[in-house]
Amino acid sequence: MTIEMKNGRLMEKVAIVTGAGSSGPGWGNGKAAAVLFAREGAKIFAVDLVPEAVAETEHIIKHEGGECVGRAADVSKGSEVESLVEQCIQHYGRIDILHNNVGNLAVGGPEETTEEVWDRLVEVNLKSMFLTCRYVLPFMVRQGRGAIVNISSVASIRYTGYPSVAYNATKGAVNQLTQNIAVQYAPKGVRANCVLPGLINTPMIQQPLKDAYGPGGAEEMIRRRNEVVPMGRMGDCWDVAYASLFLASEEAKYITGAMLVVDGGLTCKCS
Ligand code: NAP
Repeated sequence: MTIEMKNGRLMEKVAIVTGAGSSGPGWGNGKAAAVLFAREGAKIFAVDLVPEAVAETEHIIKHEGGECVGRAADVSKGSEVESLVEQCIQHYGRIDILHNNVGNLAVGGPEETTEEVWDRLVEVNLKSMFLTCRYVLPFMVRQGRGAIVNISSVASIRYTGYPSVAYNATKGAVNQLTQNIAVQYAPKGVRANCVLPGLINTPMIQQPLKDAYGPGGAEEMIRRRNEVVPMGRMGDCWDVAYASLFLASEEAKYITGAMLVVDGGLTCKCS
């Protein structure tokens, strides 16, 4: 089967996508980004904690006629990230796009959040993005160009309806990580931007959020999340993937340090 090249917006670009599997059956943001980038001509280096999850994404891309290398790794560990980046360079010879999608969610304010959960979210949501940038940037600088897209959240700038202090704090820090890199590396041809998804219906939300909206379980959670958005529904993984595609592509060549909100109008509301 030949891949559907829509516009070739990432033709010949090499993209590392982290969290490229999906947290459960169906499509998450990372899987959608990896597949969409491949459909636009990028060669994908897909990474996920779960071997089966990344293998599935690799299979989808190859089945569509795209190029993909899948690797299982924990991107919150420096030695694993260093090795991944080396493997990507050995295989493709360059890195044009770093798509940092990995993120974990935990519900709870400061009294309910254990030290262990706090540390895990700092490691997975924030340290992982620092580490991938740390090891990828030297190659982008040598190339004189590169695009980093970090998946943040509207939780980085707003309370989203339930306490999630570790998630919101780490996502807020992702914005600052991104903008710091954007300024430092602008003269070197490297852009860094974030996408701030709003309430997105992905497999990842099912488990941690099923009780966050009251006793009605997952059904009530979905109803309430749809209801609160001005557009009347949660977004989906493709909404996030298309925003990421734009920021990763040359169409965004004068955009760096941006925080692109993808939320159906949610953050324009005050109640
Ligand atoms: P997803 O892309 O379906 O899942 C993320 C993937 O990353 C999962 O396969 C996960 O494995 C993997 N992963 C977790 N920790 C990792 C690690 N240390 N190293 C390598 N891979 C790891 O999830 P999603 O819901 O679509 O969320 C993706 C991103 O969007 C996250 O950064 C999230 O914070 C952000 N976001 C989501 C929403 C939403 O409503 N869904 C809203 C705003 C922002 P496991 O399944 O084993 O953990």
